[in-house]
Amino acid sequence: MVWQPAENRYASMKYNHCGKTGLKLPAISLGLWHNFGNDTPHQTKQAICRRAFDLGITHFDLANNYGPPPGSAETAFGEILKTDFAGYRDEMIISSKAGYNMWPGPYGEWGSRKYLISSCDQSLKRMRLDYVDIFYSHRFDPNTPLEETCGALDQIVRSGKALYVGISSYNSKRTREAAAILKDLGTPCIIHQPSYSMINRWIEEDGLVDTLEELGIGSIVFSPLAQGMLTTKYLGGVPDGSRASQSKSLNPAFLNERNVENIRSLNSIAERRGQTLAQMAIAWVLRGGRITSALIGASRVEQVEDCVKALDNAEFSTEELAEIDRYARD
Ligand code: NDP
Repeated sequence: MVWQPAENRYASMKYNHCGKTGLKLPAISLGLWHNFGNDTPHQTKQAICRRAFDLGITHFDLANNYGPPPGSAETAFGEILKTDFAGYRDEMIISSKAGYNMWPGPYGEWGSRKYLISSCDQSLKRMRLDYVDIFYSHRFDPNTPLEETCGALDQIVRSGKALYVGISSYNSKRTREAAAILKDLGTPCIIHQPSYSMINRWIEEDGLVDTLEELGIGSIVFSPLAQGMLTTKYLGGVPDGSRASQSKSLNPAFLNERNVENIRSLNSIAERRGQTLAQMAIAWVLRGGRITSALIGASRVEQVEDCVKALDNAEFSTEELAEIDRYARD
């Protein structure tokens, strides 16, 4: 039987304008960096996407290199789009990116026109899509003129392969430069994707949040749970199957006694607020309405369900914010 999404899927999710654009993004979006490669059963990936969509998560974030192996997350997502979401493409915002190492030789990474345009074509083939909604330059390339990188983004939109473009992890200065070039080209930069969490505040220190607000660019922040550290999962050690237990991107050395003690204190604040630590971490990045969307990852359906409930208690008192600052610092 063909899967049908929940009829009430738009009942509780909040949708925020992406900067000063007409595009709205869910306050919580789902990223497919981990848990969508060939190391995860297809049924798990399918169940996570279905549940996310049922809960109002309309935005799915990918990149050329997500896997393992690189490319396999886009291939798996393409399969899920075909079997489950064929009739719902216009209700979805799908993004991809190019910037990190994807194929051998001089044209398989960074920010050249050659790499960005061929990578976008490959991503579309893997996902079996005619276009992505957002295409990103995944990282600033110090050895390619920004005019070339932005020119490639502009051409990707003009050739119908993406509706909007964005940049990821560019600092405030480079963001201003890229935004000015893209504006001149007539393809505005509508979104920035930086990392941000209670324990990773570089976008505040760099002035990026202010810059984005000033330029009317939306923000979708990745790893708001610090890859799982800002949840209760590591309070009793490193559980089997968790990201820190595998040789992935989360270094178990971060889970030292001092950090775990701080996470325990943050968890006490979350408990007092009547929410899980994951929920408090997501509510925290969204506080004050300056961030468009919190971009989470999930290895299980239950994690998505837990995370979306962050919106049930998204306000913080000044005292709570000060207490959080005592235990959560860069
Ligand atoms: P998170 O900080 O949300 O970490 C996700 C991990 O946290 C999950 O895999 C899971 O860990 C754990 N988790 C999630 N929800 C819960 C919960 N409710 N309770 C307990 N544990 C939970 O984000 P990610 O680091 O996964 O990044 C999210 C997305 O951001 C990526 O998929 C990608 O789209 C994007 N991204 C972009 C980057 C860029 O350069 N632009 C770089 C990195 C990410 P476990 O797997 O151990 O169960």
